[in-house]
This record gives sequence, structure tokens and C-alpha cells, in this order.
Amino acid sequence: MFTNRDGGFSGGDFQSPLMISASVSIPPNTMNQRDSNSLFSARFFALSVLCLLLPSFCPAAEISLRSDFEGGMLGPVKQISEAHFLCSVPGQADQDGRNRQPSWYSFSVNEAKGREVKVTLTDLRGEYNYKPGGVSINEASPPVVSADGINWHHLTTMTFDKSNDQASFTLIPESDHVMVAHIEPYTASRVNQLLAEIRGHPDLKDEVIGKSVEGRDLHLLTISRPAVNHSGKPVIWLMCRQHAWESGTSFVGEGAIKFLLSDEGKAFRDRVVFKIFPMLDPDGCADGGVRFNRNGYDLNRNWDTADPSNLESRRLMPEICAAKKAMIDFGRMDFFLTLHNQERDEWLSRSVNHGELSDRFFAMLVKETSFNPGAKGPTPSTNKVAASRYSVYEFLDIQLNKPAFLMEQGIASSSKLGHLPTSKDRIEFGRQLARVMCALVLEKP
Ligand SMILES: [Zn+2]
Repeated sequence: MFTNRDGGFSGGDFQSPLMISASVSIPPNTMNQRDSNSLFSARFFALSVLCLLLPSFCPAAEISLRSDFEGGMLGPVKQISEAHFLCSVPGQADQDGRNRQPSWYSFSVNEAKGREVKVTLTDLRGEYNYKPGGVSINEASPPVVSADGINWHHLTTMTFDKSNDQASFTLIPESDHVMVAHIEPYTASRVNQLLAEIRGHPDLKDEVIGKSVEGRDLHLLTISRPAVNHSGKPVIWLMCRQHAWESGTSFVGEGAIKFLLSDEGKAFRDRVVFKIFPMLDPDGCADGGVRFNRNGYDLNRNWDTADPSNLESRRLMPEICAAKKAMIDFGRMDFFLTLHNQERDEWLSRSVNHGELSDRFFAMLVKETSFNPGAKGPTPSTNKVAASRYSVYEFLDIQLNKPAFLMEQGIASSSKLGHLPTSKDRIEFGRQLARVMCALVLEKP
């Protein structure tokens, strides 16, 4: 069943998500403008002095929620009371209006310093692979908040009401402007900042392999020593951010990239070639997307049908076409991993054609990294994938016989980390992961 993004609400009850709520009373029109202005100024001055002397006299500014910034996303908002907001999580559906996934919200709470604000999130049930989906946001995945957009922390409590699929939390902002998000954001601008930081490293090649639907650059990084002459070395491919809401994968990618370009990574650059897609869906990461590109195509499906030589295919799915062409043109691939996030267990896919390598990879991840799977081994894959439903690793594994894997990292509390995962944990995992992948392609089975 498909749930409309505004399903369940009477639209008239809702205000725009970008409501600006400061109100100013306008003097009567009967006064001339000069009188009106001077009277207004005198009133404003008197009110300001009174507010300074007696703060309790002044009415508090109205609290507002906004999402008009990079990566921001919030649906219609209904103000239940002065400081209680019912917020729809709009989600995103595919090119056919199916598979709606409501896994992302990011907004600011304004003019609420020192006041307790309650937020109730609603419209949380989606659809996955054409089947009724679970609730993507619940008490196990509380939001993160930040006053500066740099330092984030989890709110400790979020409650979930099963009777109406609504999640609620309260916060008392310590400043007039705080940001709230499902998990710590990693925007398209941040990846550009990272690329600017590392540009010029002698062992790095940064290629723009194409443009996204909205015209953003799609990058492919090659890290090796030297980057342009590496025949004979094993080649490892890493793909981040096929799905925009899964920002944890960008932190892992950043951790891997920084480690590989560091002094410590030099030994690995000598022996291995890394090819890294740092952000496959920059549009979604800029626009607050969830799972689909700007034309509605899931960037981790459609890998069998996307055709880089076909104009229409390049128009609809430029991101898949560019990455697919880059991999096929380069040819060599000794290892491939695509990174993902989800609310539930962590897991690693088992390759249909490279089962033994899957088992070794899984065992090394468990031993050497913070990977915390629910199962005791890799999750079996199938080679019976429906047309247009091939994910990138299924396409590479089944159709091209490459050792390709998908890893899901959970956003709920990890028993191995002992807490809810943070960006710091993800960056550290990127370092651990790069070492494990290098060891796998260098060791003899
Ligand atoms: Zn994903």
C-alpha cells in the first residue's frame, strides 16, 4: 500500500514547515506615516526598556521550526500548543510513486532558548521493495542535536507510540537556534570541503566522472603511490552515499580517505590502489533527500538496466551511469564494497560467486573493527534478482563475477561500541575498514 506523503492529515490544519512566527502589530491607518512611525518607535523603545528591567514582563518570542538550509527536510508542521509541534516526516518515493521511505528529517528550532520544546514526528511508516514497510524511526534511533552544526550529540530519550506510529522527544535549547536531525548530517558541501583539503596530495587523483541530475560533480578518487602508475597492484573499490539519508557512510569514507592519505597509510598506498566514490547522490545530500535521485531512481537498484551508452538512461540515472562506466572502463576490480546505514542490525552480504572471501571478510571485520553484526556470518544473497532491481553489488557479483559486497551499519546503540554510533566512531571505522580490505587483497587465502 502506498502512503501519500501527506497521508492522514487534513491539510488545512497544517502550517508551512518554514513558518516565521514573529508578529508585529501595525498602527492604525488613520495616522499619518510620520506620526505612526514616531509613535511606533516610542512604543518599541518603551517596551525594550521594560524588557531589560523586567524580563518577565515581555511575552516570549514564538518558537519556529525551519528546514530551508542545505540537507534540511521537514514536512507540514502543526502547532499543538505554544511549545509542542506535530511534524510530518515527508520521506521520498520513487519514480513510480512507490517505495516511500521516511528516514530523514533535519530542521532547526528557533527562539526557544531555555524553554522545553516537544516534537512529535509522524507519518513514519513507509514501503520497501513494494511491500508495506516498517517504521523507520523509533525509540531506538533518537535524534541528534547541535547548536553550531559541528558538534552533535544524541538526545537521550525518544518515546514511540505504537498506537499511532508517532515518535516524540523534548529538548531545552541552550541557544536561540539549535539543529535537530535523524543522524548527524554530512552535506554535499562537506564533501567538497574535504576534496579541497586533500587536493594536491601527490598520491591522489580526483576525477569528475559525470554530473548528477541537478548538475553537481560526481567524483571518483584514486589513491595509490603514484596514483597514475599502478599496474600490478590489487584494486579496491569503495562506494559511499548511494542513499542520501545514510550520512554515516560519508563519515566512514572520510575516515578511510584521510587514513589512506596519511603517513600511516603510505605502506598501503605502496601496495594497493583505492578507487573511492565519496558521494554518489550529491543532490539528495544537498536537498534533504532520502533514497532516490532527483528523478526518483534508487541508486542502489537499476544497475542491470542503467545503460551509460543510452542518452535517456543517462538523463534519468546519470549517477549510476557515470559510476558503472567508470568501473567497466577501468576494468580491474579485486574487491568492491558499498556502504549503507539502516535502523536495525548490522550485516554484510555474502557474495554469490565469492563465498569463501565473504567469510574471511566477515571474520576480519568482527575481529578488527567495530562492525557489530546480528548474524554469525554473511547474509546469503540470491542470484534470482528481478529485472531493474539489481543493486550495485548484485550487478557486479552476479553479472560481472566480481567480489562485491554490501555492508549495512546500524544507527541504533551498538553493544560493541557501548553507545549510539557517532561520526567519530564512523571515521575510526573507516580507518579500520581500509586496513581490513588491504589485508584481504594482499594475503593469500
Ligand atoms: Zn542504503
